[in-house]
Amino acid sequence: MKQQVMHIGLDDTDSTRKGCTTYITALLVEKLEKLKATFLDYPKLVRLNPNVPWKTRGNGALCLRIKHAAELEGRIKETTVRLVEEHSDLGFKGTNPGVVFFHNEKIPEDIKVFSKNAVTGIVTLKEATSLIQKFGGEAIGFKNCRGIIGALAAVGETFEDDHTYELIAYRVPENCGLKRRVDAASIFEMDKLTQPYTFNNVDSEKGRVIITPRGPDPILFGIRGETPGIVKKAFELVKPLEKVERWLVFRSNQGTDEHLKRAATLNQIKPYQSIVAKGVVSQSPRLVPLRHVIFSVSDETGEVDCAAYEPTVALRKVARKLIVGDSVEAYGAVREASPGKRLTVNLEKIKVLSLAPKTVLQNPACSKCGKRLESMGKNKGFRCKKCGTRFNDARKVQATVERDLQVGLYVTSNRSQRHLTKPLRRYGLEKHGAPAENMIENWHTP
Ligand code: ATP
Repeated sequence: MKQQVMHIGLDDTDSTRKGCTTYITALLVEKLEKLKATFLDYPKLVRLNPNVPWKTRGNGALCLRIKHAAELEGRIKETTVRLVEEHSDLGFKGTNPGVVFFHNEKIPEDIKVFSKNAVTGIVTLKEATSLIQKFGGEAIGFKNCRGIIGALAAVGETFEDDHTYELIAYRVPENCGLKRRVDAASIFEMDKLTQPYTFNNVDSEKGRVIITPRGPDPILFGIRGETPGIVKKAFELVKPLEKVERWLVFRSNQGTDEHLKRAATLNQIKPYQSIVAKGVVSQSPRLVPLRHVIFSVSDETGEVDCAAYEPTVALRKVARKLIVGDSVEAYGAVREASPGKRLTVNLEKIKVLSLAPKTVLQNPACSKCGKRLESMGKNKGFRCKKCGTRFNDARKVQATVERDLQVGLYVTSNRSQRHLTKPLRRYGLEKHGAPAENMIENWHTP
């Protein structure tokens, strides 16, 4: 029987009130298996630009790469489109599903570039459809068809720089909308036993579990980690207190920093991007209402603001300690300038590169006994309390004080990290250019 390859990209099926594209993917895996398709990779869960204004939640798009009997091509496509139709929240204004079928075994360079641009910036539906036409793919779009953008971007993600895995466990439909029930102690224990190879399981600052989302979607919990084997082991350590309908391992760009683009100079920074840029602190940190901290950085090309929001806790603490002259690297999403507000980087990380000397004005020391002098009032000179000598013409002196801040990388607390943010735990575990490992036998149920 002649076999052929197919990539199936899916996006924009859900809304804030219902559904999840990863769940449709899980249902599709079960159906494709019944059609005797072979999976060439784990389903891909690709996080696209987190700053896209029309995203529902985490801007995730999905792709399956399979080998199948040539004569089943029609049935596979039909099954996919029917599932998307049945499980999408088509009645919701912002839901515009898209499906892409792509048959080339190798992903063309142009589509890889499109995908990268969809992770780091804004791309258009026109660009997507002309690439699909150019390379002989097929696209099915519902309503304004915007989902085709994400569906093609998921096809084009080849994880050449780095990747991680996520095992997602789903609830039975009758539980969706109810409080999620998972034994919290088992999650803390799982984190202890699998670290550093799993990440973002718990928020140690607040002592809270963060693998269970909130909202009415069908996800019970998701465990992120370095290999399919470790997320599966972690899953076996967690005790769900409600029925798990199904589970599935995804390969992902989550936790890889793929969204961050290095800006050589500050005048290159554009809204809707996430950037890494160097600058020198040019205006001291100021506290704005709601306890956010804002400071400015500049280089020879311009000046931008950096904002550390209250929930970023660790970053906010660092930001408050910066002074004019400190050299930093800012990581984060760029927010457009608005009346009274400069272009602003919403910080996800700060690297403190060097610290400026901090000086304070102090009373001078007594030239006779060395004790610090006491002021006798404005312009009235100083007096030594110990030996009684007076110094009518003495002035305050500048002294360097130790900084309460170290050079190094600071990352926002894990509960406020974006899906794409690389957590500290992953530093040193990146898989540069490494291909997917051989697939483990049981990577999904059913
Ligand atoms: P969820 O994470 O719950 O699956 P979502 O946050 O992924 O939802 P979608 O409902 O998929 O949000 O909406 C995002 C929409 O934006 C999709 O239609 C997608 O095609 C489009 N999109 C994604 N990235 C870009 C981009 N970089 N430029 C332009 N459009 C984009």
